[in-house]
Amino acid sequence: MALSDPASQSPPPKVAIVGVGAIVSGDWRDPFVAGDGILCEGGVIVQIGALDARAVNSADVVIDAGGATAIPGLIDSHVHVTFGDYTPRQRTVGFLESYVHGGVTTAISASEVHVPGRPTDPAGVKALAIAAHKSFRNFRPGGMRVHAGSIILEPGLTDADFREAAEAGVWLAKAGFGAVETPFDYAPLVAAAKSAGMVTTCHTGGSSIPGSSAIRAEHLVAMQPHVSFHINGGPTAPPDEDFQVIVDKTEAALQVCTAGNLRTTLLVARLARDAGVFDRFLIATDTPTGSGVMPLGVLYTISHCASLTDMPPEWFIGAATGSCARVYGLGSGFLRAGRDADIALIDAPLGGSRTTALEALKNGDVPAVSAVVSSGWPRFVGRSRNTPAPMRPARVVSSRLVQTFAG
Ligand SMILES: [Zn+2]
Repeated sequence: MALSDPASQSPPPKVAIVGVGAIVSGDWRDPFVAGDGILCEGGVIVQIGALDARAVNSADVVIDAGGATAIPGLIDSHVHVTFGDYTPRQRTVGFLESYVHGGVTTAISASEVHVPGRPTDPAGVKALAIAAHKSFRNFRPGGMRVHAGSIILEPGLTDADFREAAEAGVWLAKAGFGAVETPFDYAPLVAAAKSAGMVTTCHTGGSSIPGSSAIRAEHLVAMQPHVSFHINGGPTAPPDEDFQVIVDKTEAALQVCTAGNLRTTLLVARLARDAGVFDRFLIATDTPTGSGVMPLGVLYTISHCASLTDMPPEWFIGAATGSCARVYGLGSGFLRAGRDADIALIDAPLGGSRTTALEALKNGDVPAVSAVVSSGWPRFVGRSRNTPAPMRPARVVSSRLVQTFAG
């Protein structure tokens, strides 16, 4: 069953998810919610845990999870969007909609730097961010929410520019691709973006595109951005000695990305845990890039981290959901009453050696995604077109929604 994106047409239905085997909260400190049901209404979670018969019967749509695990819809905080559901870097249409089939319900732009011939002057980067922000406010590929419009920090941007962009809705800023003399020149620009209320992000590690330079710990310490983008390397990692400095001398979120260095991903996870700052550890993909389109990228990195460290998979699910929502101030990311109804059902893949999604992750497998609900709307129920089939498929057991089955 699939429903098209109806955001503008009617309010989200009342959806009950029953028969959930485990509920992962998205909060790594308190990772599980007791019970087996979730009730959503008006696009938010209104009840979670044990649902009584009256609550289930009141729902327009009832989904039986079949014993699968419910997790918050994944938040990919490093996606190279441009305009529409198209990536010029990989010449692919429909990649964002495909990410929904990897359990991703929110994408956050890593700046629209891949727009062909993107402008580099202050007026141009400001206009680009405003246009991207406004166009994705009206466009939800596959039902995904895209936070786009990250202003590329370029010399010459003034406090007034940042205020104007912020008034138009832009709340993200990106350091790393500007025509600066040295990365230290980003410090005043990051400060100006922060005073306009923006979440500031910074490329970390070796340069990824010609003309930009390597950004090291000393630069991040001078800049103090909110997020160290692909701290593990995007795709080239900074020297190992930089990581402890970034952990100790900044408060930046430590974002690791699939399209980077796996060894340093694991190193950063352990450093964050040992320093007591695992809240700052985020998982994202840094795609589409030269590494390609990766609809299952977030799930792969969760699986790599869970299977190659002694930390539990639910911590790493938190790193791609609740911890990310905290850093970026989002309404999604947690399975809790009052939060956005962004939910993925995941299960052990059919034919594997494990019986639950969490055991599969610990084993190094990518779990099956068996259903996705975003903003309260079921986007698909049964199986993802990108993952293996689940051991226990989710099913719609009742629906009072009128459907047309029109082509
Ligand atoms: Zn990137």
